[in-house]
Amino acid sequence: MCDACSVKGINWSISNGPGKSRLETAKFYTSFDSREIKVRLCYLCAIKLFIQGEEQFLDYNKALRRELEVSNGANAFDW
Ligand SMILES: [Zn+2]
Repeated sequence: MCDACSVKGINWSISNGPGKSRLETAKFYTSFDSREIKVRLCYLCAIKLFIQGEEQFLDYNKALRRELEVSNGANAFDW
């Protein structure tokens, strides 16, 4: 499941079309207090992230940002 599509309730497999339902691992480096956050993105979202960059991508995907902030909150990290 694509993290960005799933928070939007989009079926990533269908919106990407056959043959492109591969998931890629992407990383946010600067948007979460310089923590490295991994997400799984579908082909379309990976391209969007590449073109838009972290900040703009997360601006368009505010639900994803919230989700990542919650799931990667300070307590979830044990350095
Ligand atoms: Zn996606």
